Amino acid sequence: MDIVELIPSLRPIVAAIDELEERHGRTFLVGGAVRDTIIGAEAIDLDLAIEGAGIDFARDLAATLGGLATPYGDFGTATVAFAQGSFDVASTRSELYASQGALPTVEPAGIDEDLLRRDFTMNAMAVALDSAERGLLIDPLDGEADIASGTVRVIHDASFADDPTRIVRAARYEARFRFGLDSHSEALARSSVKAGHVSKLSATRIGSELSILSREETGIEGFARLDELGAARALHPSLDFAPVAIADMKSAEALNERLGAGAQAWRLRLAVATRAFEPTERIRWLDSLQLARPDVDVIDRAAGSAPELNARSVEAVSLFDLHQALTGEPLEAVVIALAAADTTTSGREKLGSFLTTLRHVNLTVTGDDLAKLGLAESPAVGRVLNRLQQKKLDGEFATVAEELEAARELIRSGEFN
Ligand code: ATP
Repeated sequence: MDIVELIPSLRPIVAAIDELEERHGRTFLVGGAVRDTIIGAEAIDLDLAIEGAGIDFARDLAATLGGLATPYGDFGTATVAFAQGSFDVASTRSELYASQGALPTVEPAGIDEDLLRRDFTMNAMAVALDSAERGLLIDPLDGEADIASGTVRVIHDASFADDPTRIVRAARYEARFRFGLDSHSEALARSSVKAGHVSKLSATRIGSELSILSREETGIEGFARLDELGAARALHPSLDFAPVAIADMKSAEALNERLGAGAQAWRLRLAVATRAFEPTERIRWLDSLQLARPDVDVIDRAAGSAPELNARSVEAVSLFDLHQALTGEPLEAVVIALAAADTTTSGREKLGSFLTTLRHVNLTVTGDDLAKLGLAESPAVGRVLNRLQQKKLDGEFATVAEELEAARELIRSGEFN
């Protein structure tokens, strides 16, 4: 298999490497792109490794490609962006873990050592990019055979103890590729959890891996696996990836899809997973995952508001009441309230009709339009808008012109002043 040939987005990069070759060390494609190409999937993120100064190399490549290199981190890492795409560059290095769960000591090293610092055999492969060796697969741990047998295998016995975030990564790869940890690696993962390595991890370190997992198509299976390995409770005592929560995530997601409700699946998942948290603790923990503020707010609201939204819907006596009760709530919160609603109350039907229909029925006419029609800023503006919204929900307007006409008439009648 010629991996270089199989990745079209590598072509301009390889051409640029040829132009620079004399001035740099050996260069490789590493990690996920090699793995995915062997699996037969499309390689999306390209990671290059160079035996030498990564940032200098990235700058020279960027200049040759007419792009821009942006260094980041401490380990000779940079991102190169150019007209046809972007890729990452890093210096090959070794890592030594002085204590468990801490960040490692990093030193420059050759490609073989660089591959040995990685998480799993299937991620510890490189393909040479320089013209002399181009296409040569460097696979010291037989990752190719592990891919063929669907095995996620750690590289050495202290791997999970050194970096317990790898347990989350393992669950992600198992779920994504329908692979399995080999029995020895699985036993190591379980004993790392038992030894308390996962509990000692800072939420910040685990955060980015958890948020990547939650956004994977098969993220729910990954969560279930973490529960099964005993890792979920170790991540946080209130975090719930147990079978009932997993089933609830699936039904919320299925409802969301069936109704075209527009909620984001990953937020639904995290809302279900954190519903047993005490509210301030939930915000603190979600913040530590380094999510964007609006995401934290939506997940928190969705995790904690189901009974309230259900009660508000049950109490609503008109379409207008229902629209008022739920407009402005995150769609994720309404979906979760619906998934949890008792089938014997009217809440279920009402929450469903909000998601499928009512949420789309919003006025086109605004307060500015009313001002243009001569209604000065005053409480009457709100009253007219509410009355128009009511009429719209009752199906009285087919066009914007009809809305405007109704606004004109209401203002003329003066009954809202
Ligand atoms: P994907 O993004 O598709 O999950 P990837 O392999 O590109 O796959 P990244 O998280 O971008 O995953 O990591 C790039 C590479 O860095 C991995 O292939 C792996 O070799 C290495 N790596 C990442 N995280 C770790 C870790 N915690 N321990 C050891 N190696 C790691």
